[in-house]
Amino acid sequence: MNSCIFCSIVSGEQKADVILSEAEYVAFNDIRPKAPVHILIVPKKHIASVAEIKEDDVLLMGQLIDGAKKLAVQAGVENSGYKLVFNVGHGGGQVIDHIHLHLLGGWNNEEHLALNV
Ligand code: 5GP
Ligand code: ZN
Repeated sequence: MNSCIFCSIVSGEQKADVILSEAEYVAFNDIRPKAPVHILIVPKKHIASVAEIKEDDVLLMGQLIDGAKKLAVQAGVENSGYKLVFNVGHGGGQVIDHIHLHLLGGWNNEEHLALNV
C-alpha cells in the first residue's frame, strides 16, 4: 500500500467516490465534506504541496483549475458561486501531503461568507 493516501486513490488501491478522471488528475468527493458540495481535484503526479511545484508543473496547476470549473458546472454550483482552496503546509491547514484543490459550494445561506479573506 502506498504511504500517500491520494496516490493510493489515484492508483485504485484505495476506494474513493471518483466523479471525474482525466489524463492528469482525478476528482472525488471529500470523505468529510465541509460544504454541501466538497470535491477534491488531485493530480495523478505526486507533488507534496503548492510550495513544491516546479516550472514544469505550471500547466498541470491550470488543468486542476480548469477541471474545477467543469466540476462546478457538473455539480450545479457555477451560478451560485463556489470557493477553490489550496491549503499549503501544515500551518495552512494541509493534512494530506499531496496537492489537492478543494471545490466548495452549494450553501443555502451566507454562513460561509465568514470564511472570506
Ligand atoms: P487538506 O486539509 O490536506 O487540505 O485536505 C485534505 C482533505 O482530504 C480533507 O478535507 C479530508 O476530509 C479529505 N480526506 C482525507 N482522507 C480522505 C480519504 O481517504 N478519502 C477522501 N475522499 N477524502 C479524504
Ligand atoms: Zn501522493
